Amino acid sequence: MKKIENYIDGKYIAPIKNNWLDNYNPAKGEVYSQIPDSSSEDIELAYKAASNAFLSWSATSLQERSTILLKIAKLIKENLEELAIAEAIDNGKPLTLARSVDIPRASDNFQFFAHAITQFASEAHESSGFNAINFTLRHPIGVVGCISPWNLPLYLFTWKIAPALAAGNTVIAKPSEITPMTAYLLGEICTKAGLPKGVLNIVHGLGAKAGQAIVAHPQVKAISFTGGTVTGAHIAKIAAPLFKKLSLELGGKNPNLIFADCDYDRMLETTLKSSFSNQGQICLCGSRILVEKSIYERFKNDFIAKTKALKIGQPLDKDTNIGALVSKPHLEKVKRYIDDANAEGGKVLCGGEYVTIVDHKKGYYLQPTIIEVSDPRCRLVQEEIFGPVVTIMPFDNDEEALELANDVRYGLSCTIWTNNLNRSMKMAKHIDAGIVWVNTWMMRDLRTPFGGIKDSGVGREGGFEALRFFTEPKNVCIQY
Ligand code: NAD
Repeated sequence: MKKIENYIDGKYIAPIKNNWLDNYNPAKGEVYSQIPDSSSEDIELAYKAASNAFLSWSATSLQERSTILLKIAKLIKENLEELAIAEAIDNGKPLTLARSVDIPRASDNFQFFAHAITQFASEAHESSGFNAINFTLRHPIGVVGCISPWNLPLYLFTWKIAPALAAGNTVIAKPSEITPMTAYLLGEICTKAGLPKGVLNIVHGLGAKAGQAIVAHPQVKAISFTGGTVTGAHIAKIAAPLFKKLSLELGGKNPNLIFADCDYDRMLETTLKSSFSNQGQICLCGSRILVEKSIYERFKNDFIAKTKALKIGQPLDKDTNIGALVSKPHLEKVKRYIDDANAEGGKVLCGGEYVTIVDHKKGYYLQPTIIEVSDPRCRLVQEEIFGPVVTIMPFDNDEEALELANDVRYGLSCTIWTNNLNRSMKMAKHIDAGIVWVNTWMMRDLRTPFGGIKDSGVGREGGFEALRFFTEPKNVCIQY
C-alpha cells in the first residue's frame, strides 16, 4: 500500500512519531494509501525549514520568483493526466471534471500569481502643504500557514500557496486529510521546478492535531484557511490572542434566483451544474433554488427530468456526471438531511437514495436530490448540506425573492437569472453575498476578489487582494 509522506525542507519524510492514517478511495469505499498523522513536532520541523528559507526567498528578485512559479505551473500542465486521475481517485469526483477544471486551475493559480506579483504596485500620497510624500512598502509576512479542504483539493491548496510564495513568504501548508494525494505530488513538482528547499513545506494529518498546531504556532504570523464555518470560528479563537492575520473562506448556502424573464434554456443547463457539479460539494453551488411563481411548475418538471438523466458512476468513467461523495461519514450526514426532509415539511421530488455501482459496491454514491420546501426557516434551507441536494421553492415578487435570498446566516455567492437589467442591478446591490453572478455561474476571473460575508468568512482571496493579505504594509513618510 502506498505511503505518502510529508514534504519538509525539500525532502519527503515520514512523520516523526511514525503514526499513520488510512486514506480511502471513496469510489470503492476501500483504504488505498496511508498518510502521516503529523503532530506538533512535525509542524515544528516544517517551521524550522520555512524559517531558515525565509531570508533568502524573501530577498529573491520578483523575476526569479516569478520564473520558478511559472515552472511549477508548466509542470502541473505537463502532468495533468496523472494529477487528474489522482484527484478523481482520492476525492471521488468525475475524472472529466478534474481534467477540465481542477488541475488546469491549479496550474493557472501559479501562472496568475507569477505575473500578478510583477504588477503589484504600492500607493503613494503627497501630503499637500507639508512638502511630504508618503509611500507604502509591502513586506512579506514571514512563515505563513495555508489550510485547505477536500472538495477542490489541488485547486484550493494552490490558490493559497501561489500568492503566499509570490509575495515572498515561506509556507507550511496542510491539505485535507481526506484528499492528500495531489498535494503530496505537488512536492515533487516544486523540487523539479527549482523551488528552494524549505520554501514550501507540506504536512499531512488531522485538522484538530496537525492543522491546529500550525494555527497555534506563535511564529506562524498569518493563516489562510478554507473550510467549514465551525472550524473557522475555532481557528479564529486560537489565532486572536496571538494577533495573527486571518483569511477565512467558509461555508455557504447560496441562493439561485430564477426570474420568469430569464433565458430559460441557459438557466436550466447552468442550474443543473450549479446544483450537482462535484456531487454538490462546491462552496459556490446554488443549493437554494428560488423560482418566480409563474414558471415554477414548468421549471420543476424540466429540472426533475434533467436531474434524473444525470449518470451516476465511477469517477474514472468518461460519461459519469455524478461520482462518489468524498467519505462515508459525509455521505451519511447528507443522507440524514434527506431522511429528515418529511419531518422538516419538505417533499423529496427526485433522488434521495444510495446507489450501488457494479464493481464498486462499497462506494459512497447518492442520487442527486431535489427537495421542495415550504418553510424557509427549516434546516434543509438554513444549513449547509454540501452534497447533491437542493431545495426549491417559489416566490411572488422581487421583494420576496430578496428577503428569502438573504434569510440565512451565510453570504458567500448568489446567482440571478433575469434579462431585466434594473432588476439584476437591484438584486446584486442588495443581496448578502461576496460574489454575485448574473446569468452565469462559477465564471471566475482570477483578478477579482473572492470571499464571503456573514458566516461565510472574513477577508478576500484572488488578485491583488491575496497579495495584500500575504504582505504587511509599511507607510514611509519623507518630508523634503
Ligand atoms: P473542515 O473545516 O472540516 O476542514 C478544512 C481543513 O481544515 C482541513 O484541512 C482540516 O484538516 C483542517 N482543520 C480541521 N479542524 C482544524 C482545526 N481545529 N485547526 C486547524 N485546521 C483544521 O472543512 P471540510 O469538510 O474539509 O470542507 C468543507 C467545507 O469547506 C464546507 O463548509 C465548504 O463550504 C467549505 N468551503 C469553503 C470554500 C470557500 O471558498 N468559502 C471553498 C471550499 C470549501
